[in-house]
Amino acid sequence: MTSGESSLMHTLLPTSIVGSLPKPSWLAQPETLWSPWKLHGEELVEGAQDALRIAVQEQSRRGIDIVSDGEQTRQHFVTTFIEHLTGVDFEQRETVRIRDRYDASVPTVVGAVSREKPVFVEDARFLREQTDQPIKWALPGPMTMIDTLADRHYKSREKLAWEFATILNQEAKELEAAGVNIIQFDEPAFNVFFDEVQDWGVAALERAAEGLHAETAVHICYGYGITANTEWKATLGSQWRQYEKSFPLLQQSTIDIVSLECQHSHVPIELIELIRGKKVMLGAIDVATEEIETPEDVADILRSALEFVDADKLIPSTNCGMAPLPRGVAHGKLSALSAGTDIVRKELTAA
Ligand SMILES: [Zn+2]
Repeated sequence: MTSGESSLMHTLLPTSIVGSLPKPSWLAQPETLWSPWKLHGEELVEGAQDALRIAVQEQSRRGIDIVSDGEQTRQHFVTTFIEHLTGVDFEQRETVRIRDRYDASVPTVVGAVSREKPVFVEDARFLREQTDQPIKWALPGPMTMIDTLADRHYKSREKLAWEFATILNQEAKELEAAGVNIIQFDEPAFNVFFDEVQDWGVAALERAAEGLHAETAVHICYGYGITANTEWKATLGSQWRQYEKSFPLLQQSTIDIVSLECQHSHVPIELIELIRGKKVMLGAIDVATEEIETPEDVADILRSALEFVDADKLIPSTNCGMAPLPRGVAHGKLSALSAGTDIVRKELTAA
Protein backbone atom coordinates (compact mmCIF):
# COMPACT_ATOMS: atom_id res chain seq x y z
CA MET A 1 0.00 0.00 0.00
CA THR A 2 1.46 3.34 -1.02
CA SER A 3 1.20 6.58 0.88
CA GLY A 4 -2.27 8.09 0.88
CA GLU A 5 -4.18 4.98 -0.13
CA SER A 6 -5.69 4.06 3.21
CA SER A 7 -7.18 7.48 3.93
CA LEU A 8 -8.53 7.63 0.37
CA MET A 9 -10.52 4.49 0.96
CA HIS A 10 -11.85 5.40 4.37
CA THR A 11 -12.92 9.03 4.11
CA LEU A 12 -16.64 9.43 3.36
CA LEU A 13 -17.13 11.94 0.51
CA PRO A 14 -13.43 12.74 0.04
CA THR A 15 -13.10 16.25 -1.39
CA SER A 16 -10.85 17.19 -4.28
CA ILE A 17 -10.25 19.94 -6.81
CA VAL A 18 -10.19 19.44 -10.58
CA GLY A 19 -6.67 20.80 -10.94
CA SER A 20 -5.39 24.32 -11.14
CA LEU A 21 -5.28 27.00 -8.44
CA PRO A 22 -4.29 30.65 -8.96
CA LYS A 23 -0.54 31.23 -8.87
CA PRO A 24 0.98 33.76 -6.47
CA SER A 25 1.55 37.18 -8.08
CA TRP A 26 5.33 36.90 -7.60
CA LEU A 27 5.35 33.79 -9.82
CA ALA A 28 3.01 34.74 -12.68
CA GLN A 29 0.52 37.46 -13.63
CA PRO A 30 -2.72 36.68 -11.70
CA GLU A 31 -6.13 36.08 -13.29
CA THR A 32 -4.64 35.29 -16.72
CA LEU A 33 -4.44 32.07 -18.72
CA TRP A 34 -1.04 31.30 -20.33
CA SER A 35 0.34 33.93 -17.98
CA PRO A 36 4.09 34.44 -18.55
CA TRP A 37 6.42 33.50 -15.69
CA LYS A 38 7.94 36.31 -13.65
CA LEU A 39 10.96 34.17 -12.67
CA HIS A 40 13.49 32.34 -14.83
CA GLY A 41 15.93 29.43 -14.67
CA GLU A 42 16.72 28.10 -11.18
CA GLU A 43 14.65 30.88 -9.59
CA LEU A 44 11.61 29.68 -11.52
CA VAL A 45 12.12 26.06 -10.40
CA GLU A 46 12.39 27.14 -6.76
CA GLY A 47 9.56 29.67 -7.01
CA ALA A 48 7.18 27.15 -8.59
CA GLN A 49 8.04 24.60 -5.88
CA ASP A 50 7.32 27.20 -3.18
CA ALA A 51 3.98 27.94 -4.85
CA LEU A 52 3.22 24.21 -4.96
CA ARG A 53 3.97 23.98 -1.21
CA ILE A 54 1.49 26.79 -0.56
CA ALA A 55 -1.13 25.12 -2.77
CA VAL A 56 -0.77 21.89 -0.77
CA GLN A 57 -0.94 23.74 2.53
CA GLU A 58 -4.07 25.71 1.56
CA GLN A 59 -5.84 22.54 0.40
CA SER A 60 -4.91 20.65 3.58
CA ARG A 61 -5.85 23.32 6.05
CA ARG A 62 -9.11 24.02 4.22
CA GLY A 63 -10.18 20.38 4.38
CA ILE A 64 -9.42 19.06 0.87
CA ASP A 65 -8.81 15.32 1.21
CA ILE A 66 -7.32 14.39 -2.18
CA VAL A 67 -4.54 16.89 -2.79
CA SER A 68 -3.36 18.24 -6.16
CA ASP A 69 -0.36 20.35 -7.17
CA GLY A 70 -2.64 23.25 -8.15
CA GLU A 71 -0.74 23.10 -11.48
CA GLN A 72 1.73 25.60 -10.04
CA THR A 73 4.66 24.32 -12.12
CA ARG A 74 2.87 24.52 -15.49
CA GLN A 75 1.80 27.44 -17.59
CA HIS A 76 -1.18 25.68 -19.16
CA PHE A 77 -2.83 22.28 -18.71
CA VAL A 78 -2.30 21.19 -22.32
CA THR A 79 0.51 23.31 -23.75
CA THR A 80 3.07 22.60 -21.04
CA PHE A 81 2.86 18.85 -21.63
CA ILE A 82 3.18 19.23 -25.40
CA GLU A 83 6.17 21.58 -25.03
CA HIS A 84 8.15 18.66 -23.61
CA LEU A 85 7.58 16.38 -26.62
CA THR A 86 9.56 16.10 -29.81
CA GLY A 87 7.85 16.34 -33.21
CA VAL A 88 6.03 19.59 -32.39
CA ASP A 89 7.39 22.90 -33.69
CA PHE A 90 6.44 25.80 -31.44
CA GLU A 91 7.91 28.36 -33.88
CA GLN A 92 5.75 27.18 -36.78
CA ARG A 93 2.30 28.39 -35.75
CA GLU A 94 -1.05 28.17 -37.46
CA THR A 95 -4.46 29.51 -36.51
CA VAL A 96 -6.97 26.77 -35.76
CA ARG A 97 -10.43 26.63 -34.22
CA ILE A 98 -10.17 25.18 -30.70
CA ARG A 99 -13.06 22.97 -29.57
CA ASP A 100 -15.05 24.43 -32.47
CA ARG A 101 -15.32 27.60 -30.41
CA TYR A 102 -12.48 30.09 -30.71
CA ASP A 103 -9.46 30.68 -32.95
CA ALA A 104 -5.98 30.41 -31.51
CA SER A 105 -2.47 30.42 -32.86
CA VAL A 106 -1.11 26.95 -32.11
CA PRO A 107 2.11 24.98 -32.67
CA THR A 108 2.42 22.49 -35.53
CA VAL A 109 3.11 18.75 -35.54
CA VAL A 110 5.98 18.40 -38.05
CA GLY A 111 7.27 14.88 -37.35
CA ALA A 112 6.70 11.74 -35.27
CA VAL A 113 5.77 12.77 -31.72
CA SER A 114 7.61 11.21 -28.79
CA ARG A 115 8.43 11.76 -25.15
CA GLU A 116 12.20 11.59 -24.74
CA LYS A 117 12.08 12.19 -20.99
CA PRO A 118 9.50 12.42 -18.20
CA VAL A 119 7.50 15.66 -18.14
CA PHE A 120 5.90 15.99 -14.68
CA VAL A 121 7.42 13.07 -12.77
CA GLU A 122 9.89 15.20 -10.75
CA ASP A 123 7.08 17.62 -9.85
CA ALA A 124 4.86 14.71 -8.77
CA ARG A 125 7.67 13.31 -6.61
CA PHE A 126 7.98 16.74 -5.00
CA LEU A 127 4.22 16.84 -4.35
CA ARG A 128 4.42 13.34 -2.83
CA GLU A 129 7.06 14.58 -0.37
CA GLN A 130 4.82 17.43 0.81
CA THR A 131 1.85 15.42 2.08
CA ASP A 132 0.71 12.03 3.38
CA GLN A 133 -2.78 12.61 1.97
CA PRO A 134 -3.79 10.90 -1.28
CA ILE A 135 -2.56 12.86 -4.30
CA LYS A 136 -4.05 13.31 -7.76
CA TRP A 137 -2.20 14.37 -10.90
CA ALA A 138 -3.88 15.79 -14.02
CA LEU A 139 -2.71 15.18 -17.58
CA PRO A 140 -4.39 16.38 -20.77
CA GLY A 141 -6.40 13.72 -22.60
CA PRO A 142 -5.45 12.61 -26.13
CA MET A 143 -8.40 14.26 -27.90
CA THR A 144 -7.94 17.58 -26.11
CA MET A 145 -4.23 17.51 -27.01
CA ILE A 146 -4.79 17.11 -30.75
CA ASP A 147 -7.39 19.85 -30.64
CA THR A 148 -4.79 22.46 -29.64
CA LEU A 149 -2.38 21.67 -32.50
CA ALA A 150 -2.05 21.99 -36.25
CA ASP A 151 -0.98 18.68 -37.80
CA ARG A 152 1.21 18.57 -40.91
CA HIS A 153 2.59 15.08 -40.29
CA TYR A 154 -0.02 12.44 -39.40
CA LYS A 155 -2.87 14.24 -41.20
CA SER A 156 -5.32 12.19 -39.14
CA ARG A 157 -6.76 13.28 -35.79
CA GLU A 158 -7.25 9.65 -34.81
CA LYS A 159 -3.66 8.59 -35.57
CA LEU A 160 -2.22 11.54 -33.70
CA ALA A 161 -4.51 10.83 -30.72
CA TRP A 162 -3.25 7.22 -30.57
CA GLU A 163 0.36 8.44 -30.56
CA PHE A 164 -0.44 10.83 -27.71
CA ALA A 165 -2.27 8.06 -25.83
CA THR A 166 0.88 5.93 -25.90
CA ILE A 167 2.99 8.86 -24.67
CA LEU A 168 0.48 9.68 -21.91
CA ASN A 169 0.54 6.06 -20.80
CA GLN A 170 4.34 6.16 -20.40
CA GLU A 171 4.07 9.35 -18.34
CA ALA A 172 1.14 8.02 -16.27
CA LYS A 173 3.03 4.84 -15.34
CA GLU A 174 5.96 6.91 -14.07
CA LEU A 175 3.63 9.23 -12.15
CA GLU A 176 2.13 6.16 -10.51
CA ALA A 177 5.61 4.91 -9.57
CA ALA A 178 6.29 8.36 -8.04
CA GLY A 179 3.38 7.75 -5.64
CA VAL A 180 0.42 9.38 -7.38
CA ASN A 181 -2.84 7.75 -6.20
CA ILE A 182 -5.20 9.09 -8.88
CA ILE A 183 -4.28 9.96 -12.46
CA GLN A 184 -6.75 12.26 -14.19
CA PHE A 185 -7.06 12.94 -17.90
CA ASP A 186 -8.67 16.26 -18.86
CA GLU A 187 -10.96 15.80 -21.87
CA PRO A 188 -13.14 18.92 -22.31
CA ALA A 189 -13.12 18.00 -26.03
CA PHE A 190 -15.47 15.10 -25.12
CA ASN A 191 -18.25 17.70 -24.78
CA VAL A 192 -17.79 18.82 -28.39
CA PHE A 193 -16.73 16.05 -30.80
CA PHE A 194 -19.36 13.40 -30.14
CA ASP A 195 -18.74 11.21 -33.21
CA GLU A 196 -15.02 11.03 -32.48
CA VAL A 197 -15.69 10.27 -28.79
CA GLN A 198 -17.70 7.28 -29.95
CA ASP A 199 -15.37 6.18 -32.78
CA TRP A 200 -12.00 6.40 -31.02
CA GLY A 201 -12.00 8.98 -28.18
CA VAL A 202 -12.88 6.66 -25.31
CA ALA A 203 -10.64 3.91 -26.73
CA ALA A 204 -7.69 6.34 -26.91
CA LEU A 205 -8.39 7.41 -23.34
CA GLU A 206 -8.40 3.78 -22.20
CA ARG A 207 -5.09 3.28 -24.02
CA ALA A 208 -3.64 6.23 -22.03
CA ALA A 209 -4.83 4.58 -18.80
CA GLU A 210 -3.85 1.00 -19.75
CA GLY A 211 -2.15 -1.13 -17.11
CA LEU A 212 -2.31 1.46 -14.34
CA HIS A 213 -2.87 0.39 -10.74
CA ALA A 214 -3.56 3.95 -9.61
CA GLU A 215 -7.18 5.01 -9.90
CA THR A 216 -7.97 6.75 -13.18
CA ALA A 217 -10.25 9.71 -13.77
CA VAL A 218 -11.54 11.64 -16.76
CA HIS A 219 -12.54 15.29 -16.38
CA ILE A 220 -15.12 16.63 -18.84
CA CYS A 221 -16.34 20.18 -18.45
CA TYR A 222 -17.61 23.31 -20.13
CA GLY A 223 -14.30 25.11 -19.61
CA TYR A 224 -12.82 27.93 -17.55
CA GLY A 225 -14.89 31.04 -16.93
CA ILE A 226 -13.37 32.89 -19.91
CA THR A 227 -15.41 34.92 -22.41
CA ALA A 228 -15.22 32.43 -25.33
CA ASN A 229 -16.61 29.70 -23.07
CA THR A 230 -19.29 31.89 -21.51
CA GLU A 231 -20.51 32.91 -24.99
CA TRP A 232 -20.51 29.27 -26.15
CA LYS A 233 -22.50 28.20 -23.07
CA ALA A 234 -25.12 30.85 -23.89
CA THR A 235 -25.81 28.99 -27.18
CA LEU A 236 -26.39 25.61 -25.54
CA GLY A 237 -29.98 26.22 -24.48
CA SER A 238 -31.65 25.60 -21.14
CA GLN A 239 -30.59 21.95 -20.79
CA TRP A 240 -26.98 20.94 -21.38
CA ARG A 241 -27.20 17.30 -22.43
CA GLN A 242 -23.67 16.89 -23.87
CA TYR A 243 -22.76 14.32 -21.20
CA GLU A 244 -25.54 12.12 -22.53
CA LYS A 245 -23.23 11.18 -25.44
CA SER A 246 -20.05 10.32 -23.54
CA PHE A 247 -21.40 8.94 -20.24
CA PRO A 248 -22.84 5.63 -21.55
CA LEU A 249 -19.49 4.96 -23.26
CA LEU A 250 -17.54 5.84 -20.11
CA GLN A 251 -19.83 3.69 -17.99
CA GLN A 252 -18.64 0.73 -20.10
CA SER A 253 -15.00 1.85 -20.02
CA THR A 254 -12.06 0.94 -17.77
CA ILE A 255 -11.90 4.48 -16.32
CA ASP A 256 -12.70 4.54 -12.58
CA ILE A 257 -13.83 8.12 -11.95
CA VAL A 258 -15.79 10.64 -14.03
CA SER A 259 -15.38 14.34 -13.16
CA LEU A 260 -18.25 16.56 -14.26
CA GLU A 261 -19.50 20.10 -13.95
CA CYS A 262 -22.71 20.69 -11.97
CA GLN A 263 -22.85 23.86 -9.83
CA HIS A 264 -24.76 26.72 -11.57
CA SER A 265 -24.74 24.58 -14.66
CA HIS A 266 -27.61 23.63 -16.96
CA VAL A 267 -26.56 19.98 -16.81
CA PRO A 268 -29.62 17.91 -15.82
CA ILE A 269 -28.39 16.17 -12.68
CA GLU A 270 -30.13 12.89 -13.54
CA LEU A 271 -27.54 12.35 -16.32
CA ILE A 272 -25.27 11.06 -13.53
CA GLU A 273 -27.40 7.92 -13.60
CA LEU A 274 -25.74 7.12 -16.95
CA ILE A 275 -22.42 6.42 -15.21
CA ARG A 276 -23.91 4.35 -12.37
CA GLY A 277 -21.17 2.15 -10.88
CA LYS A 278 -18.37 4.66 -11.54
CA LYS A 279 -17.05 7.09 -8.96
CA VAL A 280 -18.35 10.59 -9.58
CA MET A 281 -16.22 13.68 -9.01
CA LEU A 282 -19.04 16.18 -8.78
CA GLY A 283 -18.50 19.87 -9.56
CA ALA A 284 -20.11 21.57 -6.56
CA ILE A 285 -18.12 24.80 -6.98
CA ASP A 286 -18.64 27.17 -9.94
CA VAL A 287 -15.30 28.41 -11.30
CA ALA A 288 -16.92 31.00 -13.61
CA THR A 289 -18.03 33.34 -10.83
CA GLU A 290 -16.10 35.17 -8.12
CA GLU A 291 -19.03 34.75 -5.77
CA ILE A 292 -18.09 32.17 -3.13
CA GLU A 293 -20.68 29.43 -2.62
CA THR A 294 -22.16 29.01 0.83
CA PRO A 295 -21.72 25.62 2.51
CA GLU A 296 -25.49 25.15 2.00
CA ASP A 297 -25.12 25.73 -1.78
CA VAL A 298 -22.57 22.92 -1.83
CA ALA A 299 -24.62 20.64 0.42
CA ASP A 300 -27.73 21.13 -1.75
CA ILE A 301 -26.07 19.96 -4.92
CA LEU A 302 -24.41 17.00 -3.19
CA ARG A 303 -27.79 15.93 -1.78
CA SER A 304 -29.39 16.02 -5.23
CA ALA A 305 -26.48 14.08 -6.74
CA LEU A 306 -26.85 11.38 -4.08
CA GLU A 307 -30.09 10.31 -5.75
CA PHE A 308 -28.00 9.07 -8.67
CA VAL A 309 -24.67 8.03 -7.14
CA ASP A 310 -23.94 5.88 -4.09
CA ALA A 311 -22.40 7.81 -1.20
CA ASP A 312 -19.25 5.69 -1.23
CA LYS A 313 -18.66 6.74 -4.84
CA LEU A 314 -19.14 10.50 -4.53
CA ILE A 315 -16.13 12.85 -4.57
CA PRO A 316 -17.19 16.50 -4.03
CA SER A 317 -15.10 18.74 -6.27
CA THR A 318 -14.97 21.90 -8.38
CA ASN A 319 -16.51 22.36 -11.85
CA CYS A 320 -13.09 22.94 -13.43
CA GLY A 321 -9.70 24.50 -12.69
CA MET A 322 -9.53 27.74 -10.68
CA ALA A 323 -6.40 29.26 -12.28
CA PRO A 324 -8.14 32.40 -13.63
CA LEU A 325 -9.80 33.35 -10.30
CA PRO A 326 -8.44 35.82 -7.71
CA ARG A 327 -6.46 33.84 -5.18
CA GLY A 328 -8.56 34.76 -2.14
CA VAL A 329 -11.73 33.72 -3.97
CA ALA A 330 -10.29 30.33 -4.93
CA HIS A 331 -9.16 29.67 -1.35
CA GLY A 332 -12.60 30.70 -0.05
CA LYS A 333 -14.17 28.22 -2.46
CA LEU A 334 -11.96 25.42 -1.08
CA SER A 335 -13.31 26.15 2.41
CA ALA A 336 -16.90 26.26 1.14
CA LEU A 337 -16.43 22.91 -0.59
CA SER A 338 -15.25 21.16 2.56
CA ALA A 339 -17.77 22.90 4.87
CA GLY A 340 -20.64 21.93 2.55
CA THR A 341 -19.36 18.37 2.29
CA ASP A 342 -19.16 18.18 6.06
CA ILE A 343 -22.86 19.03 6.38
CA VAL A 344 -23.79 16.10 4.13
CA ARG A 345 -21.30 13.73 5.81
CA LYS A 346 -23.02 14.40 9.14
CA GLU A 347 -26.44 13.77 7.61
CA LEU A 348 -25.27 10.49 6.09
CA THR A 349 -23.66 9.18 9.27
CA ALA A 350 -26.60 10.27 11.46
CA ALA A 351 -29.09 8.45 9.21
ZN1 LIG B 1 -12.35 21.68 -16.87
